[in-house]
Amino acid sequence: MKLTRFFFGLCLAALLATCARHPRPTRLSIFDVVINHVTLVDVRTGQLTPNQVVAISKGKIVEVQEADKDSYAAKQYVNGNGRFLIPGLWDMHVHFRGGDSLAAANKKSLALYLAHGITTVRDAGGDLTPQIFEWRKEMVAGRLPGPRIFTSGPKIDGPGATWPGSLEVETPAQVRHAIETLKGMHVDYVKLYDSKISGPAYLEAIRQAQRRGLKTTGHMPYTVTLAESIRAGLDATEHLYYVLKACSGKEDSLTAVARASQGTAKPLGLFALLPAVNSTYDPAAAANIFALMAKRHVAAVPTLAIGKTLTELAETNHDRDSLLNYIDPKIQATYRRRALSAQQQSAEARAFSHQLETRFMSLVAPMHTAGVLILAGSDSGPFNSYVYPGASLQQELGLLVQAGLTPLEALQTATINGAQFMGVADHTAAIAPGKDADLVLLTANPLDNIANIKKIDAVISRGKAYPAASLANLLRAVRNK
Ligand SMILES: [Zn+2]
Repeated sequence: MKLTRFFFGLCLAALLATCARHPRPTRLSIFDVVINHVTLVDVRTGQLTPNQVVAISKGKIVEVQEADKDSYAAKQYVNGNGRFLIPGLWDMHVHFRGGDSLAAANKKSLALYLAHGITTVRDAGGDLTPQIFEWRKEMVAGRLPGPRIFTSGPKIDGPGATWPGSLEVETPAQVRHAIETLKGMHVDYVKLYDSKISGPAYLEAIRQAQRRGLKTTGHMPYTVTLAESIRAGLDATEHLYYVLKACSGKEDSLTAVARASQGTAKPLGLFALLPAVNSTYDPAAAANIFALMAKRHVAAVPTLAIGKTLTELAETNHDRDSLLNYIDPKIQATYRRRALSAQQQSAEARAFSHQLETRFMSLVAPMHTAGVLILAGSDSGPFNSYVYPGASLQQELGLLVQAGLTPLEALQTATINGAQFMGVADHTAAIAPGKDADLVLLTANPLDNIANIKKIDAVISRGKAYPAASLANLLRAVRNK
């Protein structure tokens, strides 16, 4: 009896030893991509889980578990050893625009986004909507590498709008028609612009969009207050000019001044009133508006990187920027307008610009602490000089940390916050079974230093892995000859 048990034990030990040397037989399924021995970064909690295997099929993450438990067969293996895996980044404010003659040039920026780890962008309005829908089809079919695109389609503005292709509205009937047009185009949200739109038309557009289940974000005419816009249903405020106006202790009287000037020879707008807005900054007014934004779930898109780039335009020589090699000459030509106006700026105006940038930086942390959803957006695209697709989002995250967010909080602004805003957080922006396989593999921990998001070893987009060499190929294909 004893001997039998001894022999049985011996056999079991031998069997276990065999198992240790040869992992259990390969799974029946062959995965599209397997990333092995990787450290997962949970962007919700900041928790790191080392030595994991992530299996991907048909664009989705299908398994996540400890490495070495099973062996996996895959069409494509990615070595995750010593590397950190994060969800793909979201740039929540970009533009594709400039008309049909610039469509091909805009299309090239898709590779730049992907090579910088950006797997989703939100197009904040332009005149290339049919092309965007076409690119989306090509990308879904696997013929075009590039980020997922959410788009507002054309912007809504007033008669004589600055940006070509805008839907110009004045009367409630025109507003309704514009919103119904956008709804018919199946845009993802509505972008409002403030070059010419009246206060009443602006508020009406917010209400009409909300009635049809469309989110609204945007600029804001200075003839209305941010609180009024929020109460009408505004979902996000782009840039920090309008938040800053609401932080003025004199917001009501400044709004009245703007309103009274409409219809005169010199209607006052954003830039005329900014010095008065900034000099009447009031912490109590700031606390009030941040609380209202948090309560009504109104997101803020600070776009700090473009602010810094444009403010420093006159004193910076961009001629030797290596990324210029990947910006089509036709798009480079659109950079001239802002560069020229920066050179013509008076010393006084330049000093004020710097002052404003400092002020904007100071708003981010208290806004975040108050519970406002912060979204990372770069504003890159034609006409926005030297705000390079991809790299400017990385710069934005660095500035958000400089403004007081932790690296984890900054990462959230470019992952889960974007997904939450677009209403798709249930199936993306996390590393778990069932989620979209949009991921970035880094050679260093981004929670130690946010600049580590630049240390990209591979990007996984729609379930396809692009190791460093493939990313280099994508860039080579769009490099200027
Ligand atoms: Zn923009």
